[in-house]
This record gives sequence, structure tokens and C-alpha cells, in this order.
Amino acid sequence: MIQDIGERCFDITYRAVEPEPGDYALAYQGSGTLLAEKDGRLVLPRVRDWTGGSAAGSQTVESLCLRYLFSVGDARFFLVDDAAIDTGAVECPAGFVFASIQTMRFYEPRWLAYAATAGMQLWRWYRNNRYCGRCGAELGHVATSRELVCPSCGNVVYPRINPCIIVGICWGDRLLLTKFAQGRIKHYALVSGFCEVGETLGQTIEREVMEEVSLRVSNLRFYKSQPWPFSDSLLMGFFADVDGDPTAAHPDHVELSVARWVRREDLPTSHEDTSSLTNEMIEVFARGEEPRGDAR
Ligand SMILES: [Zn+2]
Repeated sequence: MIQDIGERCFDITYRAVEPEPGDYALAYQGSGTLLAEKDGRLVLPRVRDWTGGSAAGSQTVESLCLRYLFSVGDARFFLVDDAAIDTGAVECPAGFVFASIQTMRFYEPRWLAYAATAGMQLWRWYRNNRYCGRCGAELGHVATSRELVCPSCGNVVYPRINPCIIVGICWGDRLLLTKFAQGRIKHYALVSGFCEVGETLGQTIEREVMEEVSLRVSNLRFYKSQPWPFSDSLLMGFFADVDGDPTAAHPDHVELSVARWVRREDLPTSHEDTSSLTNEMIEVFARGEEPRGDAR
């Protein structure tokens, strides 16, 4: 999955440190991240790429207005301030271009691709929270931690993470696959949805399963969670057994166009896209390795 980066440790702890030339200095625009490619592998810009290129001399570390993001192993990541790029105060380093963040599902090395996605979630949060939602004053940064604080009314803003469930609904050796009715995602998926205010995870699952495919479920078994920076989400994957008539499954035709029971042997055991929890859950079920729980 996208957060599986081997031995390297992703560390989100905020550190009040000064950037050095070898540190990464990420930049984003729209749904794109600034990158280069070398021998088919991902290259992300470092501080020295910004300060030592064609614009050398006029572009200082200070002009980038770097903000600390996180570390992955020994590598430290900073964010180039949007305003510095938007106003033309700094130029992007030569050889780097903005490319879709979706390419990070496939790039090697995986730890660097994951850092680019996590960086984008923080970039989006900073960009969406320039002003206080309560009083409209400009939010201020805290020197020693990540949250934003309103100097006028004291409102404190933390990075937003949207909790979301994914459910693999089981009927013996069959799994319920779905397809989205709209958008660009055409491949099979599982029932999923965002948690609403006041709900437990179990209540979210019951509501989403009923809304999307008109089924009841029981015997919930937690599988794994996954940070999913593309939608600012924390995904929580469960398996559950259908409760009642399995043949009653039908898609709502609003969110979903297809809801189909597929036998274990007909499911794919490997996907080209190994980044998503959904694909891993389908593969795990295909191999008969899903958590079974007490009732089976
Ligand atoms: Zn305020």
C-alpha cells in the first residue's frame, strides 16, 4: 500500500529546524507536485536545486519561505511557500515540472512518492487555512508546533483528516464488488464512505452499506487502516458478513452503478496499482486470507 515504505520511518513530529541544502523542498500547484524523473525514477526538489540553478544568486533560502513538514528516515522535508511561487518571487528549479499527484501511486522509490502525497495534504491544509473561519483574521504559525492560531480570537486550527470506512462484504466465498456511477474511477471497488458527525465506525458501516447496496451486515472484522492523502482521509478497512438475503444487493445508481457478487477464484490476486487498501483487501479475500472472526 502507499504507506508501505519498507524500513524507512515516516515521522510527522514537528521540528523547529533550519533547512539545509540537502533537505527536500516540495512545491505544489493545483493537483500537481513538482518533480523530475531520472531513469524512470522519481526525483523531488531539494533546497539546493532551488538555490543553485539558473536563478542562482537571486534566489535565497529565505526567499523560499520554507516550512518544516516531516521526515522519512534521515531525509527532511520542507514546503515552499505558495505565495513565493504565485507571486513569481521564486522560480521553480530547472528540469522540474508539475505533474499529477496520482503518478505517486506508481513511482519508485516508494518512500519518496509517499512523502510527496503526505506533503500535498499538508500543502492543501495550509492553503485552505490562511484566514480564521471564525473571525476572518489572518492565521498565525506557531514556532514550535504545526497548528495555526488566530491572533485575534484565539481559534486554533489543526490539520484536517477525514475518517472513512471501506467494507469487504462477504457471502461465503463471494465478495461484493462495486463500481462508481460517476467520475473517472472505472475499476471495481468496495463499499466505502465518510463517517458522519455522531457516528461510531459500526454505525457508519451499517448506514453506508444500506445506502449504497441495500444490504445489512454483521460480524465486522477490522482489517487495516490507511492514510490516504489524496482525499485527506484516514481509511479503515473492515470485512463483514451479509446478514439476510444476499440476492437483495443492488446498487443505489447514484453513487454506485454496479454491485456484483464475485467468487473468490474469479477475483484478481494481483493489481498493477498496489497503493490502495481496496485492492489489497480484494487480493487478501481472493487468497482466502481475510480475517474470519468468531462466527465463521
Ligand atoms: Zn479568529
